[in-house]
Amino acid sequence: MPSPKITSPDDPALDQLHESLAKLADQIDVTDKWPAEQLQLCADFGVYEWFIDPEWGGQGWDTEAVVQGYLALSSACLTTTFILTQRTGACRRIASSTNHSLKERLLPGLAQGNSFATVGISHLTTSRRHLARPVLRARQTEGGFVLDGFSPWVTGAAEAQYVVIGATLMADDQPTEEQLLVVVLTDLPGVSAPEPAKLVGVSASRTGELRLENVFVEDEWLLAGPTENVMSKGVGASTGGHETSTLASGLVAAALEFLAGEATKRPNLEKPLAALQKEQEQLREALFAVVHGEPHCSSEQLRQLANSLALRSSQAALAAAKGTGYIVGHPAGRWCREALFFLVWSCPQPVLSANLCELAGIAE
Ligand SMILES: Cc1cc2nc3c(=O)[nH]c(=O)nc-3n(C[C@H](O)[C@H](O)[C@H](O)COP(=O)(O)OP(=O)(O)OC[C@H]3O[C@@H](n4cnc5c(N)ncnc54)[C@H](O)[C@@H]3O)c2cc1C
Repeated sequence: MPSPKITSPDDPALDQLHESLAKLADQIDVTDKWPAEQLQLCADFGVYEWFIDPEWGGQGWDTEAVVQGYLALSSACLTTTFILTQRTGACRRIASSTNHSLKERLLPGLAQGNSFATVGISHLTTSRRHLARPVLRARQTEGGFVLDGFSPWVTGAAEAQYVVIGATLMADDQPTEEQLLVVVLTDLPGVSAPEPAKLVGVSASRTGELRLENVFVEDEWLLAGPTENVMSKGVGASTGGHETSTLASGLVAAALEFLAGEATKRPNLEKPLAALQKEQEQLREALFAVVHGEPHCSSEQLRQLANSLALRSSQAALAAAKGTGYIVGHPAGRWCREALFFLVWSCPQPVLSANLCELAGIAE
């Protein structure tokens, strides 16, 4: 029987998808296998449509609905939901560009899940920023750009047909202030994705380098630039935004649901559970306040709160699960490793500093 399309966050079909993803989550953590089945489920349930406008065959959910959807999915399987965010980041960059023919060409297939796109932009925001020579360089030439170097972190690079990638424009072999965003087809000559390194968590996302060896990209694949600060133009995967905090909140929900289940049999867990649930509610309120455009705190403070609670809730779940939780295959151990991901993923300097101060037990 075909899966029902999820048309709103209140749709009971979302619970059905949640259940299917949760059942498969421990298995991919052990095998590190790309979650093809989970991503196909997302296509069947119409999840890719949430993020794309009706004009391109999507459902165009508003931000609040998307956050609710992400919360449900990330509490079931963080790896699959993380991959979704990278795919969505690529879709948003394409959708917000002025390149109409590229939108027409790519967005309908992406809405239906017929193709996979991802992003390689961290080297313009949070990775390798201390190096004098940019890791991915672009040279303008007749009819396009020649890209040379690598993008250090590309989720599902070997699985993608398209990668939205950023590069620094060079002139006379020197970096300029200008950058560009292009869509790179992964079957172009010179493009390769080596076997990714094993990660501490979300390893099945198969995140690793995308190498580009003098790859010619025609002008028709240009999304933005060359311009200064190309990442601040349009919308897409941004660093330290509420999306990362949303996924951390999903992880908190999974860990605290487990703790609540244990607390029904063990009264000594009730007090710490109640305290963590209170913070969970505060985090939820802060998240939706940001979504409604009436923030109680900056997005950096929100992220720090989400990181802190993800670390503490997952460790509380592990402590309650005791030695049993420390065996590979138990979700509590997986949640602890996944919580560490939020310390490094898309983490701008102010959040990094705040995390370090909290760990050191000092005020900023
Ligand atoms: C699992 C995972 C998935 C990701 N997926 C994506 C994705 O799909 N797309 C994407 O664009 N990004 C992605 N990212 C990138 C992410 O958002 C960050 O950019 C990344 O975690 C930054 O880490 P880095 O080691 O590259 O940082 P860097 O700043 O490059 O640090 C590298 C090393 O350099 C040293 N160093 C750092 N700063 C300095 C300094 N000032 N002086 C001297 N030495 C220094 C440190 O020893 C450090 O270990 C992903 C990251 C992870 C971990």
